[in-house]
Amino acid sequence: MFERTRLKLTAWYLLIIMLISISFSVAIYGVLAQELNRVERMQRLRQERLYSIEQRVQPRLVIDQEVLKESKNRLSVALVLINLAILVAAGVAGYFLAERTLRPIKDMVDEQSRFITDVSHELRTPLTSLKSEIEVNLRDKNLKIDDATKLLQSNLEEVNNLQYLSDNLIKLTQYQKKTRTNFEKVNLKEISENAQKKIVNLARRKDILIRNQIKSIVINGDKQSLLELFVIFLDNAIKYSSKGKTVVLTSKKTDHSVVINFKDTGLGIDENDIPRLFDRFFRVDGSRTKSEVRGYGLGLSIAKQIIEKHDGSIKVESELGKGTIFSVYFPSKESF
Ligand code: ADP
Repeated sequence: MFERTRLKLTAWYLLIIMLISISFSVAIYGVLAQELNRVERMQRLRQERLYSIEQRVQPRLVIDQEVLKESKNRLSVALVLINLAILVAAGVAGYFLAERTLRPIKDMVDEQSRFITDVSHELRTPLTSLKSEIEVNLRDKNLKIDDATKLLQSNLEEVNNLQYLSDNLIKLTQYQKKTRTNFEKVNLKEISENAQKKIVNLARRKDILIRNQIKSIVINGDKQSLLELFVIFLDNAIKYSSKGKTVVLTSKKTDHSVVINFKDTGLGIDENDIPRLFDRFFRVDGSRTKSEVRGYGLGLSIAKQIIEKHDGSIKVESELGKGTIFSVYFPSKESF
C-alpha cells in the first residue's frame, strides 16, 4: 500500500515539475526564435540600405535562412534533451522525496496498528477468563448460591481490571497530545502531598513509610497531570517494594532545572530491562512483579508523556534487590 502511494505521489511531483519545465521551454523557444528572426530582419534591412546608397555593393545576407532554421532546430533539440534530463532527475528525486513525505504518516499508521494489536492482546486475557468462568458455571445445573456469589466476585474483579486498563488507555492517549492547555504555576510540594494522600492506604497496607522531603518549588505545569505523575511513581515504589520498606522523595533546584527523586529500596530493575521500561505494556518478566502485582505496564508510558509535555526528562538508576531511583527533571523558570 505504501509503495503504491509512494509511486502515485512521485507521479504527481513529476507531473507538476514537467508542466513547469515544458511551459518554460516553450516560452524560451518562443522568445529566442523571435529574437533570431529579429536579428535576421535587422541585418537584411541594413544590407538593403547599403545597397541603395552604394549601387556597387552587392546585397549579402549576414544570416542565411538555412543557418537560421538549423539554429532553431538545434534549440528545440537542446530543450527536448534538457526536459528529458529534468524528467529523469525529477523522477529519481521525486521518488525519494515521496518516501520522506510519507514516512511520518507511515510511522503514525504503523504505531496505530501496533497500539490496536497491543490493546486487543491485553483485552483478550481478562475477557477469555471472564467468558470461560461464566460458561462453566452456567453449565453447572447444581450451582449453589455461594458458588454464584464467588463467581460474581471474581467477575467483578476482572471487570475492575478492564476498567483500570481502559482508564489508563484514555490517559495515555490524552497525554500524547502535546498541547499546553491548563498550564499554571504549580507548587511541587503541594502536588507531592496530594499524591501522598492518594496512595496512603496502599502504603499503610504494606507498612511502607513515605518520607516526603520535597521543598516548596514552583514550576509552570498542568496540576492534574503532575499529580498523576507523582501518583504513578509513588504507586510503583510501593507496589514493587516488600513490606516495611521506606520510600523517599527529594527535590533539588538549580539555575536551569528542578529535579525530583523518587527513591525506593524495593525489588530493583535489571539493567537490561531499563531501556524498555517506558514502552507501552512493558512489564518486567519472570519476577514476582508480574504474578503478584496488578498492572498493565502503562504507568511509566503515561509518566513519560506527562514529562515530555512539560519539556522535562527522566533518568533511572536501579540495582536488582537493592532499589530504584527515578529522577525527573523539569526546566526551571527564573521568573517564578
Ligand atoms: P505497571 O506497574 O502497571 O506494571 P508501569 O509502566 O508503571 O506498569 O511499570 C512497568 C514495569 O516497570 C513494572 O511492571 C515493573 O516491573 C517495573 N517497575 C516500575 N517501577 C518500579 C520500581 N519502583 N521498582 C521496581 N520495578 C519497577
